[in-house]
Amino acid sequence: MLPGSDTNWHLFFQRLSEEIESAKDSKKRIAVFVVDIVFFHIYNIKFGFERGEEIVADTINRLDENLNRVQAIERLSPHQIGIVISDVAVPELLHLGAEKIIDSLANPLVIGDDEIPVDVAVGVALYPDHGHKAENLLGGAFASLESARRQNTGYGIASTSGNHDGSDSWELENDLKQALEEDRLLLNYQPKVDLSTGNTFSFEALMRWKHINDEYVSPASFIPLAETSYLIYDLTEWCINTALREMAEPLQNNGDLSVAINLSANIIYDPSIITTVKSALEIWGVNPEQLILEVTESALMKNQELCFRNLQLLRDTGAKISIDDFGTGYSSLAYFKTIPADELKIDQSFIRSMASNSDDSKIVDSIINLSHKFGLKVVAEGVEDVETLNLVSDMGCDAAQGYYISRPLDFTLFEEWLANK
Ligand code: C2E
Ligand code: MG
Ligand code: MG
Repeated sequence: MLPGSDTNWHLFFQRLSEEIESAKDSKKRIAVFVVDIVFFHIYNIKFGFERGEEIVADTINRLDENLNRVQAIERLSPHQIGIVISDVAVPELLHLGAEKIIDSLANPLVIGDDEIPVDVAVGVALYPDHGHKAENLLGGAFASLESARRQNTGYGIASTSGNHDGSDSWELENDLKQALEEDRLLLNYQPKVDLSTGNTFSFEALMRWKHINDEYVSPASFIPLAETSYLIYDLTEWCINTALREMAEPLQNNGDLSVAINLSANIIYDPSIITTVKSALEIWGVNPEQLILEVTESALMKNQELCFRNLQLLRDTGAKISIDDFGTGYSSLAYFKTIPADELKIDQSFIRSMASNSDDSKIVDSIINLSHKFGLKVVAEGVEDVETLNLVSDMGCDAAQGYYISRPLDFTLFEEWLANK
């Protein structure tokens, strides 16, 4: 049989389109993985075409056996396999899925006396987050496969803001670059309130982009885009320096107050962040203990050892570390023992539904207890009503943040809030 004569791109495309149609009604997410057998051409040269074909067949079997909820698995090209997985509960599971694919092929394939290692690269895109049509999702999965191969990262995930439905993310990136140069970015500040005293002890700096027509674009849509390029480094530097410049005086006048800044996942893996933070603290004359650096829980999982090392170095500057969006990252509880952090923020998704969902309420209660055992201060984020505020307060949560207390404030409103705090 000639290599790749059983490729079935059309069938795969059709199956993916059908899955998308049914996901539209059920409002469920589906993932498209593209698995590339990296040394396929070398196997063919070294072992002959027949062996090459056996390797692909074995890879498909192993993937089919090891993955759950596989709706379609087909050979897309001689060395590429497409997989559709249904019912993906949250985007974070894409990491686990890609790792599972790589893990399930970790043992070399044994054919006769030969032990053949099967190296793969994986690209993945999620419906509806990264596109609404089969061609766009496949485009996203192939683009992330390409970047995983180029950067040798094993797998790549399509970016949320680089939605592949034909929106021009390149244009958006240029607009954002221009906004940075033209000073059209600003910070809002949202108070975090101590639940035992009712006092505001900290403000979280949240970036705002004043776009064309004076519309504000949410950081939730442009930060992930910036994270796909070097722009995130410029944005981070801008944010740290702007927050410390604006807050220097209020912090000096209120010794028990702090400012919290969000750091993206790729930023904490780059050691130069430590110098950026140190020099900004020095330039603006801010006491390091009045700075909190928020890092999302999912960011910790890429490489825990390296991440913890950099977090510890950041902590050594005197700044405090807060784990943001806790509960969505699926990290092991074992890391509580060693995590170099001071504060933990329970993700809004649990807080917002806890009044109506007793399971979420139990989760929040357990997170609070566990965090306290390990000496972490706990903040409930996304508190939108008094009922939830009372619930988290009764559970012994230390602090709260959310629309019920205050929306993020522009600088004038922030000053007013501070005067009345
Ligand atoms: P985050 O750090 O978890 O920030 C909290 C987000 O929840 C903010 O959205 C805030 O406005 C919103 N929020 C606060 N209370 C409530 C509430 O009661 N209900 C609801 N529905 N939402 C609430 P925002 O400002 O759009 O920021 C979204 C995310 O963007 C942030 O999530 C953070 O991850 C990221 N981000 C914001 N500013 C920066 C920045 O300067 N640098 C980096 N790297 N990321 C940033
Ligand atoms: Mg945050
Ligand atoms: Mg958060």
